[in-house]
Amino acid sequence: MKFLKKFFGYFFRDELSIRHKLVNVILGSALLVQIPGIIVTIVVGTGLSGVIMQFVMALFICSILFMTNRYPDSPVPPIIIATGANLIAFPIMYFACGGYATGIVIWMLFGSIFTWLLVGVRASIIISAINFVLFTGCLHIEKAYPQYVKYLENRNDEIMDTSIAFVFVTVIFGLIFKYQTFAYEKQAKALKENDEKLRKLNDELAEANARLESASAAKSSFLANMSHEIRTPINAVLGMDEMILRECSDSHILEYANDIDSAGHQLLSLVNDILDFSKIESGKMELHPVEYELFSVMNDCYNMIYMRAKRKDLTFIVENDENIPAFLYGDEVRIRQIIMNLLTNAVKYTKDGSVRLSIGYERIDNDSIRLVISVKDTGIGISEENRKYLFDSFKRIDERSNRNIEGTGLGLSITRKFTEMMGGTIEVESELYEGSTFTVTIPQKVADNATIGRFDDRLNRKSENSAEDGSRKKGEKIEKFTAPHARILVVDDVKMNLNVVRLLLKNTLVQMDLAASGEECLKYTRMKHYDLILMDHMMPIMDGIEAFHRIREQADGLNCDTPTVALTANALVGAQEMYLEEGFASYLSKPVKSADLEACLLRHLPEDRIVRDE
Ligand code: ADP
Repeated sequence: MKFLKKFFGYFFRDELSIRHKLVNVILGSALLVQIPGIIVTIVVGTGLSGVIMQFVMALFICSILFMTNRYPDSPVPPIIIATGANLIAFPIMYFACGGYATGIVIWMLFGSIFTWLLVGVRASIIISAINFVLFTGCLHIEKAYPQYVKYLENRNDEIMDTSIAFVFVTVIFGLIFKYQTFAYEKQAKALKENDEKLRKLNDELAEANARLESASAAKSSFLANMSHEIRTPINAVLGMDEMILRECSDSHILEYANDIDSAGHQLLSLVNDILDFSKIESGKMELHPVEYELFSVMNDCYNMIYMRAKRKDLTFIVENDENIPAFLYGDEVRIRQIIMNLLTNAVKYTKDGSVRLSIGYERIDNDSIRLVISVKDTGIGISEENRKYLFDSFKRIDERSNRNIEGTGLGLSITRKFTEMMGGTIEVESELYEGSTFTVTIPQKVADNATIGRFDDRLNRKSENSAEDGSRKKGEKIEKFTAPHARILVVDDVKMNLNVVRLLLKNTLVQMDLAASGEECLKYTRMKHYDLILMDHMMPIMDGIEAFHRIREQADGLNCDTPTVALTANALVGAQEMYLEEGFASYLSKPVKSADLEACLLRHLPEDRIVRDE
């Protein structure tokens, strides 16, 4: 029983197509028919040739059955069955087994019909046409040359042969149709079950998606909060440190304070990188194109990198094509970030030699160019094998030899993402121990076709001018002034931050009230008029935005029109736009520098409150 199940299971296994299973049914049935056929042939005594014929037929069927199941995908076995039976076996049987008065006519009809079940339409048409010609040919030959036909003994045998053929063909077709119906029903049931499974899977996927979305929202808000939470203490650290740098004259302490300043800024750029990365990952990073002056971007990068390069005794060269349009339209902040990332790496990974920033361009059309930024160093280089990991997030190369160089492995990944978001490309050429060249190409719109000129010339002119008017060197304020008659209100729930602002603005002699909450701020604004309010955003119970609106709505309002500046650790992209939309006069992000605070006073205090130094 078990053997039979296995035997039949093999011929009807699931991976076989319906047509294939049908071939098995047909061949199996034909083989079954052969056995009684052989017995009948022996009993009615059509002679040895008849018996041999039946044996050959049985052998032929067995070999096709083997081929079909050995090579299930091949179309050859069905075609062999159809042609072999119709075009060879049946015509021979016609003459060998008694002619048209016997069951052979039924078999030939059977052969024609089952051809359509077995093979494709084209092959079926061809085989059936030949079959028709052969069948009528047999009839005509029999009529003209009856001596070629080996007739059965008598009329009774012919009736018996025809009846047997009728019964078997009926049984075979019955089996075929039954099996086909059964197979379709089975397939339909399986499809329905699959459908059900798919629907269930879909539901589960939708649920998982919703969970993922809420997890991603939680992650974004966690990162935003974390960035805020980290920026708040850094604000205090860097603010107080700035006071030390400003007021202390002990060279040792100044050195320590400088280290605190550099570590604090490093921490800050790390927080910014993580924030940028998470925004890019969640698809929330947006570009903010503006009109900008390319020279100013180059100048900022030059100022930020120059000292770092000098500290390592590296030559820092900035060169450019003097015909680049001076004013472009694009995301200035991100372009600066890309150049800064490449320059910071070049300085970080170069022990001696030089770092070269070259800016060139290619014209696209009258309104747009491709900006070509290239940063070349003579540093440690990157092996060919490591170059493929270069832009992977959090991946640092040669961690062991680079362990003394700080980094997160995020800079290049962010750089590439920004470049791609702007429709640009980034390429790297490098030779181990010789140096690397990173080249970024970004399409930019041209805002004004005036040309930029040579960076070096402009830099020299600028420093001569600034030397002449004696203004701004590193650490010095833009313009010296005091404002002893101005009154400002600073609102922040962290006492240390209030202290930082108080100390950073100490030299301006401005009168200052400090409020540690939204409520306290409302109390002050009811009592006094202020020339300026510096407002923190995230505070418990009443946040800065609510406090700001409530000041504007105060019935007894002394400060309904007082310019209010958001002074906050919320450094997310779009924060500035959000505060301006709410009605704030401007926005300063923490950690705040004294120069920015003083510039803010100069901008927003009434002119008559400012006493400029002679
Ligand atoms: P990291 O914060 O580690 O510098 P990056 O994403 O900026 O992260 O760079 C990834 C890795 O690529 C670095 O760890 C460093 O091994 C390699 N790399 C980047 N720039 C250079 C360069 N100019 N020269 C040699 N190696 C570099």
